[in-house]
Amino acid sequence: PALPGAPHILLVSIPPPGHLFPFTSFAYQLAAAGAQVTCFTTGYVFEHLQHRGDNKYRDESSSGSCSKSSRVRFEGLFDYEEIHEIGMDDVMGWLQAFSNEKMEAVLERRFLELQPRPVCIVADMFLGWVQDVANKMHVPRHTLFTMNAKELAFLIRIPQLFESGELPGLNADGVMKSDISMPGMAPLPVEGVWGVFKDETVGHHQQVKEAFRRLSESKSIILNTFEELEAETLEALRTDYVAANIKVPELLPILLSSIPRLQRPNATIGNDQVSEVEKWLDTQAPASVIYISFGSLATLTKQQTGALALALEATNYPFIWVYRPPGISQVSRQSKVSISANHETSYEYFPPRFQDRVGGRAMLINGWAPQPQILTHHAIGAFLTHCGWNSTLESVCAGVPMLCWPFFADQNMNARFVTDTIQAGLRMKWGRSDDTVDQDEIQKVLTQMMDGEEGKAARSSALKFRLLAQADVADGGASNSNLHKILQECTSASLCNGSYGC
Ligand code: UDP
Repeated sequence: PALPGAPHILLVSIPPPGHLFPFTSFAYQLAAAGAQVTCFTTGYVFEHLQHRGDNKYRDESSSGSCSKSSRVRFEGLFDYEEIHEIGMDDVMGWLQAFSNEKMEAVLERRFLELQPRPVCIVADMFLGWVQDVANKMHVPRHTLFTMNAKELAFLIRIPQLFESGELPGLNADGVMKSDISMPGMAPLPVEGVWGVFKDETVGHHQQVKEAFRRLSESKSIILNTFEELEAETLEALRTDYVAANIKVPELLPILLSSIPRLQRPNATIGNDQVSEVEKWLDTQAPASVIYISFGSLATLTKQQTGALALALEATNYPFIWVYRPPGISQVSRQSKVSISANHETSYEYFPPRFQDRVGGRAMLINGWAPQPQILTHHAIGAFLTHCGWNSTLESVCAGVPMLCWPFFADQNMNARFVTDTIQAGLRMKWGRSDDTVDQDEIQKVLTQMMDGEEGKAARSSALKFRLLAQADVADGGASNSNLHKILQECTSASLCNGSYGC
């Protein structure tokens, strides 16, 4: 039960793990600090994963095992029937499902059913329309922004960039003419501009634009980051943006992907599988293993899988590789989870007899791995990552240097941030003709990371940021004070308005 006078806070997330996990962490942190929290996402997530048997998102509160988590409830927002056709990996499909007028009516109805009435709504960065519901319910809307601060600096200017013609800003060949100017900071390179903004005919162009137009209306923006990690960008947003008449709501960085505090609705994988991975890691030398994972959505092509496999075979480092067949996201229906330390996988995209040749120095995991547990194990020496923002933060918080292999959306900018800004990683360079990385390049970068001076420098930078992250989430650190700031505001709203939470 909630504490007397504890505010009831409503969170609204979209289902992909890169969004839902920070929401989950935020929900548990609010609850630990005394709030009552309801998190709406969609019933489909629970249904789907329960059917699959790995219970990835199942509500821990239902087990009643922890009094803290009993103040957190996860609820489906929509009827299963209405949305069951959307693949879990179809981010744009989810955005659409979460964005039409019908959804506004559903959220309004569900809000009114909640007891005690929530004192505010914290919604995903893509759900700008929640502002209308919040206005009708006379409560503030806060935004939880799941990407980095520079991405916010770009996205909050979307309306202005289209008005001024900087976007889409294409030449006659359909290529962007120039980088995007950013007050108080280096311009955003063309590679950092999402494809959806370059092409006004893309289905979700208007919808994504509209979501970001409404960012500035939020009461505050909660960023999954920490001050010391993105100090310059945060400073520019707070000063140069304001000087340039760009409305930026109050910014509250709260590190949600910090591994010691990371809490997910349930184990992301069964305990026996966690201990199997840990047991294997215990047999490896400190900082010797390369962990390879491309997050929940991206996959390698067959050709890229082959190049990576041959590079790993040639370089001889121990590794854990979380793999999925091309085009199969972890959360799509077809995926299955299995671990193969003894190489009994039939995955046809590996080169023939690859598993036999890499022998006991490799652990291949099909589908999904307990990433936080792996990254914090002392045997991990580097993370070959797609640079999703959560993975990036988790690596920073574990003090693990990164080998960056970005694919889409914010991943290119995250990779650039890792290599150039915090210098905690090295980048795989694409081949001349297309966006593939060849075997020689992979081998070169793996060796630089594990045996070269470049790797040493990246490791020491990652360790420096780990310490800063630890201080930030400790009592008295900025993440904690920002969390308490939100909570305090909500508590006063709860106490002074008789209809709310009292
Ligand atoms: N993740 C995990 N096991 C996996 C792959 C991913 O636990 O095998 C988690 C990872 O720890 C991170 C999230 O899923 O918290 C992925 O989010 P990210 O922003 O890194 O990438 P996305 O999946 O959104 O591309």
